Amino acid sequence: MDARTCLKKLQLVGVLNMATVDEDGAPQIRCMSAIHYEPDALYFFTARGKELCKQLLRDGRLQLSAYTRFKESIRLSGKAVPVPDDEQIKWRDVIFTEQPYLENVYPGGTKSIGIIFVIKGFSIEYFNLGVNPIFREVYEVGAAVKSKGYVVGEDCIGCETCVSACPQRAIDMQDGRAFIRQQNCLHCGNCFEQCPTGVITRR
Ligand code: SF4
Ligand code: SF4
Repeated sequence: MDARTCLKKLQLVGVLNMATVDEDGAPQIRCMSAIHYEPDALYFFTARGKELCKQLLRDGRLQLSAYTRFKESIRLSGKAVPVPDDEQIKWRDVIFTEQPYLENVYPGGTKSIGIIFVIKGFSIEYFNLGVNPIFREVYEVGAAVKSKGYVVGEDCIGCETCVSACPQRAIDMQDGRAFIRQQNCLHCGNCFEQCPTGVITRR
């Protein structure tokens, strides 16, 4: 798997969940399909009067997610900004050409209420629950990613309690110490709770 394939899968799903945060800090989520995909950027259309536009102008951070029929969860995290004024019409025309239903929603000159945002510099988390063991990976597209999950500290005594506690058998023993295979970890936290010495920490 890689970032480009994930973007292709998002494009095939077509309608994505888009999450932002409103001025009260409450989560806001809606469906979004007016999207144009480039290998390293996503362009999308909304209207200037919508809450989504106001939220993005205040804080462009957002997440897009989709779930495929193969039990793949794909989540993109990034920051959206309006494209420059002299590129608005160009990208709007691209999106309206690719998504003809938009002409029905915003016919003729009414589409000028639209605004095009672009997401450049993002990360994609790929999480496949349809394979055994599960598989996860994070891809950076021009943005650094904060590591998540659990790690085993140097003071591990090698008791192997965590090995039998792991639902995905994602923990190996190496040189008498436990080691978590991050690509197979659910982030469920069972090893963290069961470890008798507290050497497993959450990043
Ligand atoms: S967090 Fe869950 S899946 Fe990951 S290693 Fe620990 S027990 Fe296994
Ligand atoms: S349960 Fe804790 S101490 Fe025991 S092997 Fe796992 S990490 Fe090490």
